[in-house]
Amino acid sequence: MTRPFIRFRVATRTTGIRRQVFVHVYDNREQMHEAHEIARGKPYDPTDDVGGGLAVQQGFRWPRPEVTPIIVMRLWDGQLTTRTIAHEATHAAAYLYFMDAVPGWNSRARAALLGDHEPLAYLVGDITAEVVKQLYAHGCLES
Ligand SMILES: [Zn+2]
Repeated sequence: MTRPFIRFRVATRTTGIRRQVFVHVYDNREQMHEAHEIARGKPYDPTDDVGGGLAVQQGFRWPRPEVTPIIVMRLWDGQLTTRTIAHEATHAAAYLYFMDAVPGWNSRARAALLGDHEPLAYLVGDITAEVVKQLYAHGCLES
């Protein structure tokens, strides 16, 4: 497995429980993509269009999550965009929201929050990116 060239953690206590997301930033898309698929136990297909990745690698098992799941966000140097980061952060938030904010591990929300949340991640990524773009255009942010 290739090593990320930058690693750090971010944490939040928004739900009342300290939660962390590990962030690995790779030199190129192929390294990031391969590491992401290995972490997910999936075969690496270089033709897949993967711009970033979010994997819950440990501690998120039936019948209940462990106290400290290992959630890893993978990014690569050429795509460190607001859109991609917000997208991957949404995936992380969906898992943490389910763990900490939805009552009951057996909640009916499980299917929605642990299943395919790509549409939600794309919505948040797109909206966040467009708001940031407009803030730059209006001079509220400077590069
Ligand atoms: Zn996604």
